[in-house]
Amino acid sequence: MSGRVAVVTGGTRGIGAASADALRQQGYRVAVTYYANEQAAQNFTGRTGIPAFRFDAANTAQCVAGVKKITEALGPIEVLVNNAGITRDAMLHKMTADQWNEVIQTNLTSCFNLCNVVVGPMRERGFGRVINIGSINGQTGQLGQTAYAAAKAGMHGFTLALAREGASRGVTANLIAPGYIDTDLVRTVPPDELVRIRARIPVGRLGRADEIARAVTFLASDKSGFITGSTLTINGGQHMY
Ligand code: NDP
Repeated sequence: MSGRVAVVTGGTRGIGAASADALRQQGYRVAVTYYANEQAAQNFTGRTGIPAFRFDAANTAQCVAGVKKITEALGPIEVLVNNAGITRDAMLHKMTADQWNEVIQTNLTSCFNLCNVVVGPMRERGFGRVINIGSINGQTGQLGQTAYAAAKAGMHGFTLALAREGASRGVTANLIAPGYIDTDLVRTVPPDELVRIRARIPVGRLGRADEIARAVTFLASDKSGFITGSTLTINGGQHMY
């Protein structure tokens, strides 16, 4: 059992909730963050006992204050899962600047906001695991997702640079690129589009959140210290390269 402190952003629903729960089951002392859905947060904490902290991962000042609160409650953060993410799909010629900014800030700037305050102490302590949740659509692009694909591809470059910076200090950084996983986020995809997507997945189904959580616990482990700067692609064979 680990005993280390792990934080999962956007951890009250979907992939984040499954990841937090899997880490808890392996003995990590876990906290999650969320944005606005109080009911989901209460349900999650009630079911798992994991404390949920409400702050906007896209907001730098709120992240500084939020990390301080978590650290006071649990101790220094040793595993950070940058999972909080949103979609605001629109074809580029119809996308508003607000949609663009919201997606970039929530999916990509959030990684800066959290890592900026968490990685320094990780380096000082000589141990850290940063796990960023990217997306197949950052690897392949997708209609209506210029902002989302740019943010997710940006997370990829961010991960590689952070991996180089942390390597000599015991701080790893890796990216998981999930394919289509059955969560609330995917339930916003129009049903006919989802039928087309499922037909392109060789495994023949959507993924489950616990199948991504399994990879999170693998990368979080003390034993994964030689894995850094990698992308773990988990998509039922939809995109192979
Ligand atoms: P969900 O929509 O099911 O859950 C999103 C979580 O993120 C919620 O806990 C939500 O909180 C939180 N969140 C959203 N915005 C913010 C914010 N500004 N600050 C803090 N927390 C926030 O998403 P998924 O589980 O499907 O996705 C998780 C991650 O995986 C995302 O980064 C997504 O892009 C990525 N991904 C998902 C895929 C999929 O098929 N589902 C495929 C590839 C990647 P609240 O409940 O308060 O809204």
